[in-house]
Amino acid sequence: MRYRRLGSSGLQLSELSLGSWLTFGKQIEDRTAEALMKVAYEAGINFFDNAQIYSRGESERVMGKILKKMKWPRDTWTVSSKVYFGTGGKLPTQVGLHRKHVVEGCDAALKRLQVDYLDLYFCHRPDKKTPIEETAWTMHQLIMSGKILYWGTSEWSAQEIMEAHMVARQHHLIAPVMEQPQYNLFHRDKVEVEYDQIYRTVGLGTTIWSPLASGILAGKHTMDGHKNSRLRMAGLDWLRERELTAERLKKVEKLKAIAAKLDLSMPVLAIAWCLRNPNVSTVILGASKVAQLKENLSAIEAQDKLTDEVMARIAKVMDNEPKRPQW
Ligand code: NDP
Repeated sequence: MRYRRLGSSGLQLSELSLGSWLTFGKQIEDRTAEALMKVAYEAGINFFDNAQIYSRGESERVMGKILKKMKWPRDTWTVSSKVYFGTGGKLPTQVGLHRKHVVEGCDAALKRLQVDYLDLYFCHRPDKKTPIEETAWTMHQLIMSGKILYWGTSEWSAQEIMEAHMVARQHHLIAPVMEQPQYNLFHRDKVEVEYDQIYRTVGLGTTIWSPLASGILAGKHTMDGHKNSRLRMAGLDWLRERELTAERLKKVEKLKAIAAKLDLSMPVLAIAWCLRNPNVSTVILGASKVAQLKENLSAIEAQDKLTDEVMARIAKVMDNEPKRPQW
């Protein structure tokens, strides 16, 4: 495993990490979740990603049981939760980034995960109804009280992240250190263009999600979605409709030829491509099977095969270079 600093913080996360969205407490059995975490930990993965909304709290409960059972020393791994969506309740007190929900969400996540503190705590989306001062102060106070170590955001705009930094600077609060954006071969603008300046100015770290665009970049799907995959799961039609297009599948077929020439599998090529971006602190993997995780772990070494020349060939197939502002 290789490790990267989480932005300007001193914390080093493994280049690959393991997440639990749609899998833990939902698509997979708890014993598969346990096997995945074991393989991950033994490979040097030191970050497990979670959120209050994942399977409405069940994902944290499953992960908490496994962490307790494994008895890995607490100083060898990190775990996250995210607050905003709640666990199913829709009352205004049960969602959002106001002090009440951020504090209650943290306490509930600590209980479900059976830990004394969260290493990383994310604001899962921006909350237009809560002043940023309130959220920033709450996060600062959670750090001061020892319940969380680092705070960050997920799918915030660069402007919103900078507002949080301005408030933190003005009041001498601990500022957010990381953002969790979607990043993969199909989805590039935010990570490559929008945040470009704030990697340097405030030292933003990124824990990126859906490196395989929910499995499409694994190269196994047809327009119906591969059977036994998340894209065929009940209630996830919206995800299949959003992610699965004929144009995307055509590109993946072309990418497969590049991967084959390098003796890499398609998912490994796609994950290694994310790792080639130095502004990515860690790529959060999702897996429904142990074999998938084991395969994806080889993306660490595969990075070395993605030379500039290979990256140019991939770029030509994708034909989606983000537009950068000219000045
Ligand atoms: P991916 O895009 O990598 O999708 C993972 C899925 O792809 C797996 O569950 C599996 O699904 C399939 N897959 C993975 N590897 C292989 C392989 N080698 N061969 C074939 N199929 C494979 O990541 P996720 O979308 O799961 O995101 C990763 C993590 O990011 C989440 O667990 C979560 O922690 C975080 N996240 C955060 C969000 C946020 O808003 N902050 C939003 C979404 C995710 P299957 O077998 O079912 O096809």
